[in-house]
Amino acid sequence: MASTPSDIPPEFAGATLRIDLDALAANYRLIRDCAAPARAAAVIKARGYGLGAELVGATLYAEGCRDFFVAMPGEAVPVLAALPAAARVFVLNGLLPGAEEACAALGAIPVLNSLDQIARWSACAKARGEMLPAAVQVDSGMSRLGLSPEELAILMAEPERLGGIDLLLVMSHLACADTPEAEANTAQATRFAAMAEAFPGVPRALDNSAGSFLPRGHFDLVRPGIALYGGAPYEGENPMRAVVSLEARLVQTRKVPAGTGVGYGLTHVTTRETTVATIPVGYADGWPRHLSGVGAVYLGGHRAPILGRVSMDSMTVDVTDVPEVHIYPGAPVELIGPHQSLDQVAGDAGTISYEILTQLGPRYHREIVPVQAPAQAPERSDAA
Ligand SMILES: *Cc1c(COP(=O)(O)O)cnc(C)c1O
Repeated sequence: MASTPSDIPPEFAGATLRIDLDALAANYRLIRDCAAPARAAAVIKARGYGLGAELVGATLYAEGCRDFFVAMPGEAVPVLAALPAAARVFVLNGLLPGAEEACAALGAIPVLNSLDQIARWSACAKARGEMLPAAVQVDSGMSRLGLSPEELAILMAEPERLGGIDLLLVMSHLACADTPEAEANTAQATRFAAMAEAFPGVPRALDNSAGSFLPRGHFDLVRPGIALYGGAPYEGENPMRAVVSLEARLVQTRKVPAGTGVGYGLTHVTTRETTVATIPVGYADGWPRHLSGVGAVYLGGHRAPILGRVSMDSMTVDVTDVPEVHIYPGAPVELIGPHQSLDQVAGDAGTISYEILTQLGPRYHREIVPVQAPAQAPERSDAA
């Protein structure tokens, strides 16, 4: 196991965040096989869902992935620098005014979400005297990003608006894919297929992680994010391998009598003699304050409920029922791992795995588990 050089050494960190690249690669292959013959891209926005966009990008490039999605042009900069030239990096949030030249110079591929964005990208291409690559997004029913049916009709009537633009992809996004039985999934797929006919021969992409598992065709490209990182793509049993585990180290314990207040606001008052252990991870590390009094951690596989409020840099847990052999300064404390999944933590905190991952803080020691069996360099014929 190697560590990234910029890392905080384990003896200085309150917890170690272990990132299993072998599981990441396996999750990519599972989705790719599930979505075939559609190709699989990788969504690596928000620093690769908190794990490191360059790290994730390079790992999945080695698995044959060539299409990557970030949210903002600023996120494309380190990714383009880290990946070989054959990688295509799409910018989901589109083209804000003033970003055109920089985007073109960078080689990022904007997802054009409106006629205005198409006009500015086309003008930029003409000014530079070259074709510029882009994706176009249509709104198939989420009402967030993309051309409305009215805008699409205008574009079809005036196709010269796409002058100078090399259209690599037409895409849309599902609102309810994590609820497979939702009627909206079928409605959006049908509407998307119809809208995409405006761009004959251009590859189509609709599905995110959850969509990639829906029992139907997947157009030409899928855009998984969360499932790559081990989050459950839909409710029920999670088919993905865990990519992230988080293990803290116990700082200190104290035994207090019944009737003792614990933590900020003394919101918890003990009802029995209690052994309180302090764990050096708090909300500044992305451990949600909403876990105050509801979540738990595990010592030697034994559950230790969180007592009182989660502080900025620490939290207190009840280890009264944990065998003493597991309780000592420096003892390992599982926050995310075999006894408590990422989705479990998210559920306890009243949020989703995406938010837990993207908030993972900068104070952890990061340990990288490499890909075990190197991929057979699958040079896929994937001209998008
Ligand atoms: C974030 C995002 C994805 C990935 O979604 P997951 O649910 O994480 O798989 C795909 N497409 C678009 C447009 C997105 O914004």
